[in-house]
Amino acid sequence: MSKVIFPKMAVVGCGLIGSSVIRAARAAGAVGIVAVADASAAHREDIIRLGYADIVTGDVAEAVEGADLVVFAVPVLAMGPAAAQAAGGLKPGAIVTDVGSVKGSVAEALLAAAPANTFVIPGHPIAGTEQSGPGAGFAELFERRWVILTPQDRTDAPYQDAVGKLSTFWSALGANVECMDAAHHDLVLAVTSHLPHLIAYNIVGTAADMEEVTQAEVMKFSAGGFRDFTRIAASDPTMWRDVFVANKDAVLEILGRFTEDLQALSRAIRWGESDKLYDLFSRTRDIRRGIIAAGQESAEPNFGRDRNKP
Ligand code: NAP
Repeated sequence: MSKVIFPKMAVVGCGLIGSSVIRAARAAGAVGIVAVADASAAHREDIIRLGYADIVTGDVAEAVEGADLVVFAVPVLAMGPAAAQAAGGLKPGAIVTDVGSVKGSVAEALLAAAPANTFVIPGHPIAGTEQSGPGAGFAELFERRWVILTPQDRTDAPYQDAVGKLSTFWSALGANVECMDAAHHDLVLAVTSHLPHLIAYNIVGTAADMEEVTQAEVMKFSAGGFRDFTRIAASDPTMWRDVFVANKDAVLEILGRFTEDLQALSRAIRWGESDKLYDLFSRTRDIRRGIIAAGQESAEPNFGRDRNKP
């Protein structure tokens, strides 16, 4: 067990990611007291029953009081309002971070709300499942996964120390840490995560709307490809609505490129250009092999253990 990095950690929003941060931090011995603020009374009851937090409240300012690390783990559009509620309770020198899937707009919202004597360091763990809520989290979620930090453009030593401390924290939870610019993060994630989710939502919606194919047939003849899309399309509607609203520009840019490429594929099929199809499918198979070789093949590690244990 490593030594305590943050004597008090507050997590605002304790669903899949918030509860996983707590379980992983506890397992690593990286935190002392853990306080949770969650807007949902039902979730607060679950968190108390699961027993992984010392303080459970609906009051954000109360949870963050005296905390050395504050992690905002609410849906992206709720980050600004939650940070505004926290502002009065934040202690000088606190590290303020988040786990939101979009970084540009979230970074702006955190910076606008947090007092100048705190260290705002936005972050995003590239790890998750299609589950949500406080019972869905598990300690191993971040193992061998990337966590991207998008620090402010500050070179002063106290801020750099804070970035180092937050990196050490995520490393203790088993993650690999990389820093990048928020706008670049949003473009990269638009390609690797946001567009794939949009495609899944769209294809499952198209199948459901096709009158000549019944719902019963969609269920009965679901082959591998479609089944995989339905798993992605089962992801939390609030979380993903917020991602597309908050990352509009990058998603539209990537969607434009994607639509052009799809048109080219459509033409290749129409004109029987089988070599073009074969070349693309060979290139994409190599990409899949590269992902497996890099150890990033599964976004959903299920260790077959009781996820309701902290
Ligand atoms: P989740 O399971 O739905 O948990 C969010 C929790 O926050 C819920 O308990 C929710 O309560 C609560 N909440 C909402 N607004 C709040 C507020 N203003 N103050 C306090 N609590 C509030 O969501 P999640 O999947 O953990 O996602 C959390 C964040 O992580 C999102 O920003 C998402 O983009 C990011 N993320 C998600 C994944 C993933 O795979 N799920 C991966 C990486 C990053 P209610 O249910 O009552 O609203």
